[in-house]
Amino acid sequence: MGFRILDLKMPTDFKLGELKRKIAGKLRIREEGMSFTLENQSLDARDKSHVHWNIRVGVSSLEIKGGERVEEKRLSIPYKKGDSQILVVGSGPAGFFAGYILVKAGFRVTLLEKGPDVETRSRDISKFERTGIFNERSNYPFGEGGAGTFSDGKLTSRTKFISLERKFIFDTYIECGAPAEIAYLSHPHLGSDNLKKIIANFRRKFIDYGGVVLFDTNVTDVYIDHAARRVVGVETEKGRMEGDMVIFAIGHSSFDTYRQLIARGIPFSVKPFAVGCRVEQPQEVINCAQWGCPSLPGVKAAEYRLTFQENGLLPVYSFCMCPGGKIVPAAGARNTNIVNGMSYYRRDGMFGNSAIVAGIDLNRLEKRELEPLEGLEWLEKLEQAFYAYPGGYAAPSNRISDFLAGKVSASMKTVKTSYPLGLVEADFRELLPERIVTGIAAGMKQFCSRLKGFEEGIMLGLESKTSSPIQAVRDENGRSAAADNLYICGEGSGWAGGIVSSAADGIKAAMDIISRD
Ligand SMILES: Cc1cc2nc3c(=O)[nH]c(=O)nc-3n(C[C@H](O)[C@H](O)[C@H](O)COP(=O)(O)OP(=O)(O)OC[C@H]3O[C@@H](n4cnc5c(N)ncnc54)[C@H](O)[C@@H]3O)c2cc1C
Repeated sequence: MGFRILDLKMPTDFKLGELKRKIAGKLRIREEGMSFTLENQSLDARDKSHVHWNIRVGVSSLEIKGGERVEEKRLSIPYKKGDSQILVVGSGPAGFFAGYILVKAGFRVTLLEKGPDVETRSRDISKFERTGIFNERSNYPFGEGGAGTFSDGKLTSRTKFISLERKFIFDTYIECGAPAEIAYLSHPHLGSDNLKKIIANFRRKFIDYGGVVLFDTNVTDVYIDHAARRVVGVETEKGRMEGDMVIFAIGHSSFDTYRQLIARGIPFSVKPFAVGCRVEQPQEVINCAQWGCPSLPGVKAAEYRLTFQENGLLPVYSFCMCPGGKIVPAAGARNTNIVNGMSYYRRDGMFGNSAIVAGIDLNRLEKRELEPLEGLEWLEKLEQAFYAYPGGYAAPSNRISDFLAGKVSASMKTVKTSYPLGLVEADFRELLPERIVTGIAAGMKQFCSRLKGFEEGIMLGLESKTSSPIQAVRDENGRSAAADNLYICGEGSGWAGGIVSSAADGIKAAMDIISRD
């Protein structure tokens, strides 16, 4: 059987039969006896009069001379039946994948999660969005699956050197019910509706391998023998637990836990991150800007990515664009108000949203070296100011056109939005530091000329969770500088950001544990 890789252009609404015919025609072989797999599929919208898919296929046929499919390398997880007890704190992508690798390798693993299971969490989030009644332990960042569960589920990641981990993550999600297309789409997307089911299946798989999950179990302290550079266990609200190795994968909303880790002598430093707002436009406006038409058969909704860099100003960029999505109240702590974005698999909502954020270095912004605790405090104060302004979870907002004209919009109450808890007009120049506002205004001005109709949108604040403001001090194996058997990984460690890179960071921690047992 011969094998060939072939690159083709296909119309947006192509059918697999047409693709097969085209392959056979190109290679001058018969369709019977020929098989193919999609290797890559990406939308090319550079020429609006000819938006199409670029498709890479791997074709096998007896009529093809030579060539052999090169099997992709896979992560190899050695089996080490041992007695070590591993405690994993946090069940987001980093914690779940770390725990799963370790149970597969034969370790005893207990996953400690401060929030409830995904089914309970789903009900709590719906209640929050209906009534504004906030549950501190069960919300967008906290609960089974972490921030990853009610996220948009975009699986893109620009992190380098994680190809084996990425393949493992995608294969695992597919085994747990994700659409098989994530393996070849250049912009793979799960959607929040799929994620809820995937996470529940993932938990069952983890338990089948012998893993233990303890929900509603907040870890409140960590015990470290500093002389021996070893962590010996953790304190939970249900009592003390001993572990041979401890992995903290607590995301970056758990400020109280970070404060406790820092108090116990675990070193962190402040790191650059980004803050800003979400913007929302009607999806049809975005489609027209990107494709030249309001809809395209075979494609769900148009995306965009915008960046702005000008001397003397903070860099500004769009982040986590959610086509056909929804802006959500994403606070994890009482008296804070932040927003984030998600979409369902079909991406058929009326609006598209994205974060427009300015990259900041707190040390430069504040013109002094900040301690990690000060970094957390700086961000927390901002999140609290966005709560204090409306006195709750209505989102401070403005029309983009008014913001750019230096005005506060007359009334936002009747403006159509996907955000469920109401809008209140606000002066972002008052709510955000001046350098951030100046950068965002300059960036947005340019984005208006790059994306037709951008100025028709609205801006909502605060977006503060693009990445962590602090970073754990770790060695090259990911072990904490405080203890050789302590791992702080995932987004909250400051070494990862997003679902895939956080999951990969968790996998790397697990593989290091396996390698030393
Ligand atoms: C609305 C939304 C949309 C997003 N969309 C995307 C997207 O499309 N693509 C993408 O790549 N990323 C997206 N993200 C970001 C992504 O979800 C995170 O980067 C990712 O989940 C980080 O994984 P993690 O495992 O490091 O931490 P988290 O997912 O934050 O998980 C941390 C877990 O630790 C638990 N925990 C915290 N403290 C304690 C404690 N003391 N004791 C016990 N448990 C504790 C929390 O309850 C939580 O379950 C989105 C985030 C949100 C909120």
